[in-house]
Amino acid sequence: MFDGLMATATQGRSTIQRALQSVRQHLGMEVAYVSRFENGLSVFREVDAPGLEALIKPGDSRPLEDVYCLHILAGRLPELIPDTGAEPICQSMPITHQVPIGSHASIPIRLPDGSPYGMFCCLSPFPNATLNPRDLQVMRVFADIAAHEIAVEVAEAEAQALRLAELRQVIEGRLFSPRYQPIHTLSPFALVGFEALCRFTPEPYRSPDKWFDAAHAAGVGVELEIAVMREALAALPQLPPHCFISVNASPPSILGGALPREFDGLPQDRLILEVTEHAPVADYAALRDALAPIRAAGVRLAIDDAGAGYSSLQHILELRPDIIKLDMGLVRGVDTDMAKRALASALCLFAKETGAQIVAEGIETASELAALENLGVCKGQGYLLGKPMEMAAAVALAG
Ligand code: C2E
Ligand code: MG
Ligand code: MG
Repeated sequence: MFDGLMATATQGRSTIQRALQSVRQHLGMEVAYVSRFENGLSVFREVDAPGLEALIKPGDSRPLEDVYCLHILAGRLPELIPDTGAEPICQSMPITHQVPIGSHASIPIRLPDGSPYGMFCCLSPFPNATLNPRDLQVMRVFADIAAHEIAVEVAEAEAQALRLAELRQVIEGRLFSPRYQPIHTLSPFALVGFEALCRFTPEPYRSPDKWFDAAHAAGVGVELEIAVMREALAALPQLPPHCFISVNASPPSILGGALPREFDGLPQDRLILEVTEHAPVADYAALRDALAPIRAAGVRLAIDDAGAGYSSLQHILELRPDIIKLDMGLVRGVDTDMAKRALASALCLFAKETGAQIVAEGIETASELAALENLGVCKGQGYLLGKPMEMAAAVALAG
C-alpha cells in the first residue's frame, strides 16, 4: 500500500519539478515554484531557481499576507504582471522590493472540489514587457498538470488518514476476535493444540493478512498484532493442559520487545510463536536476540508458510525453529503432484536432521492427509480436520 503511495508522490514531484523548469525557461524567468497554502503560510513545495537556493528552497515559507497570492486569488492583482512597477498593490508590498520582484506570473492551483491549494508561480527580479497572455496560457497547461498530480497526492493522503482512523477504531474498540483452528498429531490422530487466527468485525470482510498489511503500512502493525495476540492468549487458561496455542507474529512485533511481557504468567511450554513474514528479514541477529528470552522461557518457535517462498527457507536456516509449518500451497495436491511431494519430503528430512517438527497446514482432503502421513509429517491442521472456531467451541472440542 505504502510503496504505491511513495511511488505516486515521488513521480508526482518529479513531474512538477520538470514542469516548473520548462515554464521558467520558456518565460525566461529566474524563479519558478509550486506552493501550498498552510496555516496562513505559503509553503514552497517544489522550487526551480538555479543558483538562487539561498533565496528560496523547498520547505521555506512566507506569511500569506506578505505575498501576492491572496490578491491574485481575490482578483485584485492579475495572474500576469509584466512589470510590478505598474501595479500599486505590488509597489505597496515590502516583498516586491526585498526579493526584488520585477515581473510575476502565477496560476492558482485548486483541488477538484474547487478549494485553493496553492500557486504555480514564476518570477524575475526584472520587469519583462514581452510577457503576454499566450505565455500565461502555456503556464496554465503546466499548472494543470501539476494540479492533477497534487490532486492525486492529496486524495491518497486523505485515504491514508481514513485508513489510519479506521485502524485506530479497530484497535481501540477491539473490533476483532480470535478463532482457534485445531492442530492434530497425525498418527496416532489426536488433538494437541490450536492456532489462533484473528477475525475482524468491520464490513466488508477482509482477511486478517490484509488487515495486518494495512496496519503495518500505516505504522500501527505492531500495536494491532499485540492487541490481537493478547485477546487470543486469553483462551490458554481455559484449555486443558495437553493443549497448546500457536500465535502469529511478524518480525517487527518480535523486535518490538513486548512479547515477553505478554507471555509472562502464562504456561509458556504451551505456547508456540509462529513467525509470519514473507519478506526478507534485514537483521537476523537482532531477531535471534529478541527471540532468545522467549525461547528460554519455554515458548516454541515455528516458521510459518515454509515452502511458500525464499524468505521462509532463509528464516528456517537463520532461526533454527522447533517447528516448520508446511505452507498450504505445498500441501494442496501433495498427494498428486510429484514435485510438491519431493519438496515436502525434503523439508521433512531437513526437519528430522535439525530436530524440528513438521506441521502441515491447509489439509483439505483425506488423500492429502494420507500422503503427508506417509512422508512422516507429525502434525497437521486444515479444513479436513477442523475449521477455525470460536473459543467456546475450541474449549468444548478439547474436552
Ligand atoms: P497463516 O498463519 O498461515 O494461517 C493459515 C491460514 O490458512 C488461515 O487463514 C486459515 O484460516 C487458513 N486455513 C486453514 N486451513 C485451511 C484449509 O484447509 N484450506 C484453506 N483454503 N485455508 C485454510 P486466515 O485466518 O485468513 O489468515 C491468513 C493469514 O493472516 C495467516 O496465515 C497469518 O499470516 C495472518 N494472521 C491471521 N491471524 C493472525 C493473528 O492473529 N496475528 C497475526 N500476526 N497474523 C495473523
Ligand atoms: Mg500461522
Ligand atoms: Mg501459514
